[in-house]
Amino acid sequence: MPGTTVRQTILTRARRIVVKIGTSAITDEKGRLDPKAVRSLAGQIADVTAAGVSVTLVASGAIGAGIGELDLPERPRTLPMLQAVAAVGQGQLMRAFHDALVKRRLRVAQVLVTRGDFENRTRYLNIRNTLRALHELGALPILNENDAVAVDELRFGDNDIIAAHVTNLQAADVLILLSTIDGVLDDGKVRDVIEQVDAGTLSLATGSKSRLGSGGMGSKLEAAGLVTKAGEAVVIANARTPNVLKKILAGENVGTVFVPAKRKLSSRRRWIGQTARTAGQIIVDAGAVTALTKRGKSLLPSGIRLVRGNFDKGATVAVLDEKGAEIARGLTNYSAEQLTSIRGLKTSQIAKILGDKPYDEAIHRNNMTLSS
Ligand code: GLU
Repeated sequence: MPGTTVRQTILTRARRIVVKIGTSAITDEKGRLDPKAVRSLAGQIADVTAAGVSVTLVASGAIGAGIGELDLPERPRTLPMLQAVAAVGQGQLMRAFHDALVKRRLRVAQVLVTRGDFENRTRYLNIRNTLRALHELGALPILNENDAVAVDELRFGDNDIIAAHVTNLQAADVLILLSTIDGVLDDGKVRDVIEQVDAGTLSLATGSKSRLGSGGMGSKLEAAGLVTKAGEAVVIANARTPNVLKKILAGENVGTVFVPAKRKLSSRRRWIGQTARTAGQIIVDAGAVTALTKRGKSLLPSGIRLVRGNFDKGATVAVLDEKGAEIARGLTNYSAEQLTSIRGLKTSQIAKILGDKPYDEAIHRNNMTLSS
């Protein structure tokens, strides 16, 4: 699907969108929130909402706003200090959007999330229900990471990635990543369209990190990969382009548009393949690789060569080929210990070893997402 077609068929008809605004798009050089920039974006969101599009906003800028509010000379370096600064700034951020939107009769709702909320299936579904209810109430959900509490592996640390998961969670038609760059630059020129996020695309990300935010082109391209693979479109554009949101949704040539994969992944497959954290790895032989990738089959114990990690039944695991390339992710029917004892065996031999054979498959097809 070339760029013009995506712009016409998907962007102009989008009913549900996720907009991510980067710190640099709503703060000045000192890191203070720029009310004019917030007002402009908020006004566009209100217009788009009034036109019947459901919008979810992922807004960075808590740390940036906190730096400005506290008059700090630079971004702190230690995690506790960053967390404290974010706690100061988050309220400012919400207030700025509240003040800009209240005149438009749009209510704002703060939703703070951490990585763990997405990795736990029940909490993930709860976020979806909350967002749905907020849209029913006519309130604009504004998400950010719960920076004040999230540390280490519990953190995403990057709102481009949160926005990608939020897009996939809601099966939104488009993710719009707004920052202060005009799009993906290739040889100094903005690419109009990117058909597929691959290694070549990822190499366009060099040296693009922003000063106050945490992202950069690398995380934007990663986010674009997650969303397009699930079957939805992505646009990267400059928040400071006048009327940028309206222009994008009118199908105008603004920023870089990413073409979605032809097949949309089901909600469950998105979570298994992209959001859940893997607890271990299963290395399979060439026959199993073909069965999974070419013939749409389940993974049987007979194709398993090696099991890595210590996981229980029901865990999400990565399936790798013998060279170590990931080919799929899925929910395992057996624990790591059980798989180790039945690897390489025919289905008929499983009961003899385990004393019982609740499943033929190590990972059932329905609980599996192919990696490419
Ligand atoms: N959560 C961070 C903040 O509000 C932003 C993270 C990012 O820039 O991606 O400052």
